[in-house]
Amino acid sequence: MTQLLNGNKLAIDIRKEISKEIEKSIRNKKKRLPHLGIILLGTNSSSLTYVNSKIQECKNIGIESSLIHLPNDSSERELLKEIKKMNNNPLIDGFIVQLPLQKHINSDKIIMSINPRKDVDGFHPENFGKMSLDMKAFFPATALGILTILERYKIEISGKHTVVVGRSRIVGRPISILMSRKNYLGNSTVTLTHSQTPNIDYYTKQADIIITAVGIPGFLTGKMIKEGAIVIDVGITKITNGKKSFLKGDVDFNSVYGKASYLTPVPGGVGPMTRIMLIKNTLIAALNNENK
Ligand code: NAP
Repeated sequence: MTQLLNGNKLAIDIRKEISKEIEKSIRNKKKRLPHLGIILLGTNSSSLTYVNSKIQECKNIGIESSLIHLPNDSSERELLKEIKKMNNNPLIDGFIVQLPLQKHINSDKIIMSINPRKDVDGFHPENFGKMSLDMKAFFPATALGILTILERYKIEISGKHTVVVGRSRIVGRPISILMSRKNYLGNSTVTLTHSQTPNIDYYTKQADIIITAVGIPGFLTGKMIKEGAIVIDVGITKITNGKKSFLKGDVDFNSVYGKASYLTPVPGGVGPMTRIMLIKNTLIAALNNENK
């Protein structure tokens, strides 16, 4: 029997918790509402969808958001200028630069220019380094969302063997670090695999927990997992069939469902948790800001 891990429901619960916290620590004390800044370059349709859903999430919770939308051909200098403005604006508690960036922009330089205390995406090396050193930091939203799903469903991580497929900076690498931290919600033995790993199924068949962040629909099949494995599907690929389009994960649902003990569906698994974790990070940034 496979239990589906309902990210939609968890996100609703967490949204209520965040709203309560805002009521208690901000509205009741007549303080300014948390404010998330978003910088978007260009009109990539996936990026536009992600940004719109983040703005919508802010509206749902009742926090402020500001979008700076720059043309596709904006220079690195123009982008850095907007980042500087966000860094220096005391009314912006945290902000993100929507990734991926265009080829003519040096993403490393952009991420490095964000004030780590406002880096609610958790991509700045200071936050990433702290995360790796078991210290308090902003953690990337998707990785935090995955950890929260495991925590809320009371799935034991400690002592388990986790195999992560994909090593991107935004998902695979941070979740591999978080799962292995010497910390509450960690202590897993982690194998990080990627496109250069031969015979991936050799590793996935041994895994108690598998986290796939590859972006290849149906990549992980039932034959690649052991009976009772916990499977977290991060992948989201939009498939268009004539006029219809739908989202597909990295997991071949039909062969994995029934063999895994737990599985995140796509859509409705990790995706909604990613959005709400960004808001949670923004609230933390706002509370830190208020404390100054
Ligand atoms: P990415 O930057 O393209 O990274 C993909 C990773 O998969 C890379 O590490 C790559 O290896 C690895 N890979 C590619 N082909 C492989 C193969 N055949 N076998 C094993 N590993 C392979 O992608 P990403 O940004 O991490 O996103 C991955 C997926 O998650 C996408 O579908 C994306 O839309 C989705 N996503 C979902 C959420 C959410 O909230 N649910 C958030 C972010 C991303 P190399 O490093 O060797 O190239």
